[in-house]
Order: sequence, then structure tokens, then C-alpha cells
Amino acid sequence: MNTRRKALKTISAIPFIGALIGPSIVTAKVAEEAVMKPLARDFFKELGLRTFINAAGTYTSMTGSLMHKEVTEAISYGATEYVNLDELHDKVGERIAQLLECEYATVSSGAFGAMTIGLAGVMCGMDEKKVAQLPNTEGLKDEVIVQKGHSIGYTHALINTGAKIVEVTTAKELEKAINKKTAMLWFLNANTEKGEIKWEEFVALGKKHDVPTFVDCAADVPPVENLFKFTKMGFDLVCFSGGKGIRGPQSAGLLLGRRKYIEAARLHTPPRGTTIARGMKVNKEEVLGMLVALELYLARDHKKEWALWESQIQLISDSASSVNGVETEIHVPPHANHVPSLKIRWDESIVKISKPDFRKQLVNGHPSIETVGSEKEVGITTWMMEPGQERIVAQRVRELLANA
Ligand SMILES: *Cc1c(COP(=O)(O)O)cnc(C)c1O
Repeated sequence: MNTRRKALKTISAIPFIGALIGPSIVTAKVAEEAVMKPLARDFFKELGLRTFINAAGTYTSMTGSLMHKEVTEAISYGATEYVNLDELHDKVGERIAQLLECEYATVSSGAFGAMTIGLAGVMCGMDEKKVAQLPNTEGLKDEVIVQKGHSIGYTHALINTGAKIVEVTTAKELEKAINKKTAMLWFLNANTEKGEIKWEEFVALGKKHDVPTFVDCAADVPPVENLFKFTKMGFDLVCFSGGKGIRGPQSAGLLLGRRKYIEAARLHTPPRGTTIARGMKVNKEEVLGMLVALELYLARDHKKEWALWESQIQLISDSASSVNGVETEIHVPPHANHVPSLKIRWDESIVKISKPDFRKQLVNGHPSIETVGSEKEVGITTWMMEPGQERIVAQRVRELLANA
């Protein structure tokens, strides 16, 4: 029994305290504070690091997202017992597949890791000789076809296997590019609008030529429906980041889809050692954290959460636009980071500060606030904030603009 449960049991066993404090929920809260507070060390402070309010979004450089208590409890639980790694992945894979109504699933080392092992699985199947030979692709299908507008840095996850990227623009070009070396077709959901070929046609082209299709949906929850949509649509493999909208461990992710490819993908991962994905280990702590984060995410009241984000963005927008010379725009990106978002712009002849300098002042202030932006505008989202922080951001933004 861990210390907290022990304390809870002790406290609830004393009728006097129970009666004094009242409902059990209050008891639990008091007990938790009593047990957890003295243990808490301010690690970031000890290391001389500043923490900040995240008004930017889910960025790797900003350590992604914050995990709910249930998730960190699952992680702590995982650290207390041994279990067979493959058996754990088997069970959790089945459980996630059931939750997301797809054939199979595995917890990966982020969406990026999911892409590497997914493609490796497609290339090598269950042939252990082939698994051992990567990244040497001799004798293997090793071309991945990608639309030019989708061909950005994330394709590095694919070439990690030793495969090559073949860029095309039209459906006709894609069909012409398919040959006996074609391993897979890869789609970047965030750039859907930057490619001529959309989802259904892309899937149909794969099926027509018997080539598996993969969609990178790393930043595509919300909406929650996306966790189901693309496997049902017929993509053979789909990946999501664990530590973005799902708020699981930032170095975990999900690979969903066809069982035969995911089982093959697993052959590249630990405990097996002489493979390209030996360094993409996902141990029990993150496997459990990912599972629990997903369960929590599915159970969340998504409408209520959306309404909260909208009101938070509105508050910051109103606060910023109350300053003379400032204008704001609320928008929702159609794909990836699909959340209420704010753009703030101003006439620098009236509000005399550049956008980068303004953002720097927010970072250097108290508390420190991180945003995104360019020379032309400042970008803010609230979905990675703790409730209440939007008020601090609204106030700081107005203050800095009004005083510029
Ligand atoms: C974040 C992101 C990735 C990488 O995901 P990780 O979970 O950090 O590995 C890949 N593709 C896209 C489109 C992303 O936004």
C-alpha cells in the first residue's frame, strides 16, 4: 500500500476526524494535502528554472501538456512493480483498440516514433531477418509516396527506417509513382488543405494499388471523433501524440490500425534489442500513463471544455482590444490544434512595441507567459492553461499594450 492510501485508510478509520471534517471527499482532500505537501520538492526551482503559463499550445520545446492526477498516479503505480514488457504492451494494445473501436493499437514513443515503427512494420512484416537488416533496405520495398504539400520535416520519422520519400502533387502523379518498390502512402493531416488529394481519395488509391496508407494525426485531438474517424475511413495506420490534446506522457503516442502492421511494428521495439527502434522504448510507466490519459480524455465533457476555451479566449480578446490601436481575431484552425485561438495585432505607430519584444516582455514578466507569434501578430490559446490563468494573461496583455 502506498503512503497516501495508508494515510487515507488511517484517517477514515478514525471516526472522530471523519465526523469532524464531514463528507469523505473532504477527508480525501485533507489527507492528500497532509501526505503529499511535505514530500513536495520544488525541483524546477532547485535547478534554477522558471516555470511559465502556457498561452502558446502543445509545443515540444515547452514540454507539451500537463498531466491530470489520475495519469501521474498511474505512472507512479507503474514504477512500483515489475511486469513482462511484451505482455503489458499486448494487453494495453487490446484495451486501447477496444476503446477506440479499431483492429489493434500500441503505445509508441510519440507520434514520431509511431511513424518510424509503423513504416518499419509495413516494410519488414514478421520477417525477423528483414527486421534486423534495417536501415539497410536492400531487397525491401522502400519508397513512401507523400504529397508535396505534406512533405515537411516530420517525414524524417519515415526516412529513419532507410526508406526514401517520393513527392507527388496530383492523384495521377501518385498512381504513376507507384511501383514494386512502393512501401506506403503517407498523409499529413495538419496539411490536408495543402494537398490536392483528400482523405477518401487517398485511401481509395492505396486500396486500388494494394499499398498501405498512413495518416499522421499527431495534433488532431480535439475533436475526439478523430480518434475513431481515420481507422474507420480505411487508413491502415493512424498515429496521435500522447502528450498533446490527450494530455498523456509527452514522450508517448498512439499507433492505431491494422493488426498485421502493428504486430510487425512491435518487432522493432524493446524488449528486442538489435533493431532500429531499440531507442524508442516505452516502459510500463508511460504505457499505463497513456492508457489512463486516453480513458480520461474519452470520458471528458468535450462540449463543456470547448465552451470554457471559448470564454477564456473571449476574455483575453476583449482585454487586448480595449487598448487603442489593437485589434484581435478569434479563429479555429481546421486541422491540427483545432481549438479556439486568438491573434492579436496592433498598429505600431500607436502601440509602440514590436510583436517579438512584446512576447519577450511577457516571458520576462511575473508570472512568465509563453505565446506564439511572428513580426506581424501574437498568437494565444488557452487549452494548455490551468483554469484561472486566463485572467492573469488577459491582465498582463492589456497592461503591456497600454503601457507601450
Ligand atoms: C507533434 C507532431 C509530431 C510529433 O509528435 P510527437 O508525439 O512529439 O512525437 C508529428 N507530426 C505532427 C503533425 C505533429 O504535430
